Amino acid sequence: MTTTQKPLIGTYSPGSIHMVGNGFHVRNLFPSNHLGEHLSPFLLLDYAGPSTYGPSQEPRGVGEHPHRGFETVTICYQGRIAHRDSAGNSGVIGPGDVQWMTAGSGVVHEEMHEKEFAAAGGTLQMVQLWVNLPKAHKMTAPKYQDITKERIPVVEVGGARVRVIAGEFQGQRGPAETFSPLNVWDVQVPAGERLEFELPAGQNAGWVVLDGATSVNGSESVGDAQMAWLDPEGRSVQVQAEADTRAVFLSGQPLGDPVVSHGPFVMTSQAEIVQAIRDYQSGKMGHLS
Ligand code: MN
Repeated sequence: MTTTQKPLIGTYSPGSIHMVGNGFHVRNLFPSNHLGEHLSPFLLLDYAGPSTYGPSQEPRGVGEHPHRGFETVTICYQGRIAHRDSAGNSGVIGPGDVQWMTAGSGVVHEEMHEKEFAAAGGTLQMVQLWVNLPKAHKMTAPKYQDITKERIPVVEVGGARVRVIAGEFQGQRGPAETFSPLNVWDVQVPAGERLEFELPAGQNAGWVVLDGATSVNGSESVGDAQMAWLDPEGRSVQVQAEADTRAVFLSGQPLGDPVVSHGPFVMTSQAEIVQAIRDYQSGKMGHLS
């Protein structure tokens, strides 16, 4: 079977490290690179760490803030992260776990280093991805999918390991329920190995390297915290690892809706943004107790 390789749009380096709250040293991979509609349905990817924190009785993190109109996906690699929201939900994720939060009509929450992890100190490494909701689902009721590592299928191809968080790889379906067709895979490829996959036609796609070095569809080498982004044309993706690599692979059907974003709100019009700000300020999204 031979299908057309997806053309490369470009390779990208992250912005400089910035702090989110006082607990996350983050490098932003997108949208800072102006890929615009080529990112859809994805909106943002922040790569936090790996950063080592000393012991603290006062957990670091980011305090109360709202979201509306999209989903936040937190993939934990090292450390432990605790979450708490205005509806009384709370949870902790550790290495290998994923929290898939649908903000929908609105959530007010905090994201902190988990108490015992903070008290002991240690290394934190995580990715936070924002996934847009189709216009028809932006005001869906908020929900959480706490996806522990045991629930994530692992597909081994040669020495490569693909953890299917969302979507499907070689017949294995990931546990995340999504509002549009998309793939989110946590991938490890040893040096010298090649990994190849086929996508449904028309998907945007990107390969975000956490650490290592790979080329993607003949690109230059993409190293630590860099990424390659691919055109919706074509269907096949070939990854060649020059060093042991850990990466996040993303692909999805573009939504085709206007994207109007203002900080933690991502809607389809300015009027909806104004409404989101009003609803937050008037307490309709609640507050942490
Ligand atoms: Mn948040």
